[in-house]
Amino acid sequence: MKTIGLLGGMSWESTQTYYSLINREINKRLGGFHSAKIVLVSVDFAEIEHFQRINDWEAAAGLLIQAARQLEAGGADFIVICTNTMHEVYDQVSASVSMPVLHIADAAGLAAQTLGVTRLGLLGTEFTMQRPFYRQRLRDRFDLDVLTPSSAQQAVVHRIIYDELCCGLINSHSRESYQEVIADLVERGAQAVILGCTEIGLLISEDDCRVPIIDTTVIHANQAVDEALSE
Ligand code: GLU
Repeated sequence: MKTIGLLGGMSWESTQTYYSLINREINKRLGGFHSAKIVLVSVDFAEIEHFQRINDWEAAAGLLIQAARQLEAGGADFIVICTNTMHEVYDQVSASVSMPVLHIADAAGLAAQTLGVTRLGLLGTEFTMQRPFYRQRLRDRFDLDVLTPSSAQQAVVHRIIYDELCCGLINSHSRESYQEVIADLVERGAQAVILGCTEIGLLISEDDCRVPIIDTTVIHANQAVDEALSE
């Protein structure tokens, strides 16, 4: 079994979900007392969030490059960056180490193909919904048509991620707000919705939506397990 390098802490609320999902999936597949081989480097999210807010992505990339090198030194065979947003600096992080870094949008794209859908709604931080790094990859590599909420709705989705979900706060009123945003995306033709932020699964499940959801934390964790068990 390969050793998974988790680049986490963004936020730690979702990193613990990754840790638990990966171990459960390894145990489901291998049985007995099997669990995952994992090296975790967890950053201080306040430092990352600061650089996001002042739009200094190079500085944020520097922190993740340092963390990726720590994972490499710690014996990881490949890396999973446990956040959608920070895939903005995927190319820099990936170029800084000599091992694969599994891109979260590729996991989402493959999940969409498996579902047989081509038009998807995307929820995430404003960075993920607005900047090209995520939607473009889904379009270019998987030929997917990605719909995003209105800018007022994006602001609500973004605020709930940072003010609540990254702080471990689960609020039923916020769940209803997300359900309204999802309903509008479905109205506009979304056949499925990508939960493109690793904390949204803490708030929204399949039962809250009329269309299938692609929870990026779950599919990225499964992608890590596939890779860990591959030859
Ligand atoms: N975990 C989140 C994501 O998947 C947001 C936190 C961050 O900015 O990294 O995008």
